[in-house]
Amino acid sequence: MPKQCDYLIYNVQIATMLDGSEPYGTIENGCVAIDNGSIIYVGEMDNCEVTPLTKFDGGGNWLLPGFVDCHTHLVYAGDRANEFEMRLNGQSYQQIAEQGGGIKSTVNATRKASPEALLASAIARATALIHEGVSTLEVKSGYGLDLDTEIKMLQVANTLGTELPLNIRTTYLGAHALPLEYAGDPEGYIDFVCHQVMPKVSELSLADSVDVFCESIGFSPAQCERVFKTAKNLGLNVKAHVEQLSDLKGAKLACDYHALSVDHIEYLTSEDVVYLKQSNTVAVLLPGAFYFLKETQKPPIEALRAQQVPMAVATDLNPGSSPIASILTCANMACVLFELTPEEALKGITVHAAKALGLDDRGIIKAGCRADLCLWDISHPAQLVYGINQYNPIKRWFGGQLV
Ligand SMILES: [Zn+2]
Repeated sequence: MPKQCDYLIYNVQIATMLDGSEPYGTIENGCVAIDNGSIIYVGEMDNCEVTPLTKFDGGGNWLLPGFVDCHTHLVYAGDRANEFEMRLNGQSYQQIAEQGGGIKSTVNATRKASPEALLASAIARATALIHEGVSTLEVKSGYGLDLDTEIKMLQVANTLGTELPLNIRTTYLGAHALPLEYAGDPEGYIDFVCHQVMPKVSELSLADSVDVFCESIGFSPAQCERVFKTAKNLGLNVKAHVEQLSDLKGAKLACDYHALSVDHIEYLTSEDVVYLKQSNTVAVLLPGAFYFLKETQKPPIEALRAQQVPMAVATDLNPGSSPIASILTCANMACVLFELTPEEALKGITVHAAKALGLDDRGIIKAGCRADLCLWDISHPAQLVYGINQYNPIKRWFGGQLV
């Protein structure tokens, strides 16, 4: 054990979220030593022999890893509350679409918005997540669908990480919807995504991953495969929205390209879960969209469990199908709607969410990991996913700094 360190958090119950004999990887009466932004020791207080420059008494409270929200669309302009109201006043989707509603309205508003306005609204949403303990956040583009707006969205997303104590991962989601300019010509649009936008995104290092919406109302598997091929050639990770509304075998296709994650997966068959296992792909569950769209088809949780496929849970924060800036509410929904255990749900917003982003240095409390930590005044970790809007961290460390 190192003898000296910057900082020591002691007198805490630690939910390391590591697999082991104890639920939540719990260490009672523990301490965490931090040096230079990283965890250098985790263990019982009795065995701790470091000499810290600064000590923090955790008062017997619970210490958990900072949460990871691994699937959001939180950079956008406008909102769709008017459509929500129209729908509940009896108007059909068709009538709403005819009045310029749906994703079209978000694309129009996002194209028109200044980077400053986009950033201001994104900061408000990201701050709500931070207050609930999120320290790493994925943000997708996909509301511009033209070169300039997609670049603008990704730049704004990256700026969030310099404005807030938050680590940002960015994903280019060009194949989200067909823009008006390409109406009737999805192949032409995929050409544009692959030949014009993706090389630029890669050249400017604006995104870590590329995502697609593989669905009858999105893009076909063949079109998605063109995007995956281009992503692999450019050295970008692959992620995919698949099997949300129907089974197009998008998950199998994404797994063929070693996708980091396949997301939604309500219509994934139990048989196809084996492809996720083989390619080490994370199953990302988005119960917020399931709830908001009043879906009934549930993801194949039993099969995912049986195959030991890691399950992550995310907010899918977006204006159309999941306007929910609360990772803990989504973890609660994963328990209530999909029957995850509280431990599975908490692993879903920590260790497995980090894996869905290709990150192994967070989401767990272990030597060598980033010191992104939250202290909670709770009697048991399950409380965090049991109560809705009742808990916020009483202290939060980001990269070892108390913020
Ligand atoms: Zn999404």
